[in-house]
Amino acid sequence: MAEMVKNWQLGREMEYAFPEARPQRQFAAVFNLNRCIGCQTCTMACKSTWTFSEGQEYMWWNNVESKPYGGYPKNWDVKLLSMLGPQPWNGRTYEGKTIFEARDPAKQTVTGMVALGYLPSDEEWRHPNLYEDASRGHNPRGESLPEHQHWGFYLPRICNHCTYPACLAACPRKAIYKRQEDGIVLIDQARCRGYRKCMEACPYKKPMYRGTTGTSEKCIGCYPRIEQGQATRCIATCIGKIRLFGWVDDPESPVHYLVHKAKVALPLYPQFGTEPNVYYIPPRWVSRAYLTQMFGPGVEEAIETYTHPDKELLGVLQLFGATDRIIHRYRIEDEEAVGFDAAGNEVVRTAIWEPVQVRPENRHNIT
Ligand code: SF4
Ligand code: SF4
Repeated sequence: MAEMVKNWQLGREMEYAFPEARPQRQFAAVFNLNRCIGCQTCTMACKSTWTFSEGQEYMWWNNVESKPYGGYPKNWDVKLLSMLGPQPWNGRTYEGKTIFEARDPAKQTVTGMVALGYLPSDEEWRHPNLYEDASRGHNPRGESLPEHQHWGFYLPRICNHCTYPACLAACPRKAIYKRQEDGIVLIDQARCRGYRKCMEACPYKKPMYRGTTGTSEKCIGCYPRIEQGQATRCIATCIGKIRLFGWVDDPESPVHYLVHKAKVALPLYPQFGTEPNVYYIPPRWVSRAYLTQMFGPGVEEAIETYTHPDKELLGVLQLFGATDRIIHRYRIEDEEAVGFDAAGNEVVRTAIWEPVQVRPENRHNIT
């Protein structure tokens, strides 16, 4: 029987398998898509840490896909969006169905009764970076903002450690749980029997099956690092400094500021209804219609704010990738942004404005 729960990303209540039970604080991250260069350092940092063993060859807990054509597993989002049907918004309120509301109770499987979903085939898991660098459109006249006619961008993805995880709701073994202390979603390997109902129900397709153990595995949010006050491997190693870890429900966290105050960071496909906790600053040059389908109705406002940042936003953006420690609290000073750990110790100090050097008249930048 479904419970009614509050989903702030939809601006309304929705159906879910269990009553609302938010953790003490919620694992979250912001990824700035304007900066991602598709280098896959995050992907390899994750793989070399967690999924380098036999049976994990096709497991990419962190993947980076080239949009609009790429996707891992193949076409994951296009397939589910088509199954879901129309997804109308009325202002900031979602009026379509979530995957929980679009479930088919007549479908006599656990997943069918919990959420709309599908199980990707082996072939769909085979090519982690298909369509790499393939962009959309054609414009021989050259491009200019606000929207390019010829566009593409990189979308890095990990498990969203959702507030309402579809994977958890669909598990007939109750092997999946959400940690009370940090909101990280884990699969208990001792309980899992590899039924793959989590893979079928997760709209982001982030649980993956391991044939050598007969169980499903997924991103563990680098919880041993989080417990030590360190950001995840994918966040700490990011070459483009596009990622920032934080607690989305803590008003002192820079992630809370980006999501709830500046409103420049948006959830991925909020209409699915799981209340995902990885947030994205949308890329400025991309088709607004495409971005609105992907990130919901806040896209125009987010891009406008990001394009004309005030001092606080600029300062917080400089904290991305500035330390591998978790920044619990930040302060904006005259010229610098400062980050503090849980104990209140300063862990990073960085200039808000990057120095600009102007060449003298007789030293023009010509080669
Ligand atoms: S992204 Fe998928 S696997 Fe991760 S918590 Fe959400 S529903 Fe579960
Ligand atoms: S390491 Fe950072 S810049 Fe490189 S692909 Fe990953 S998210 Fe993008």
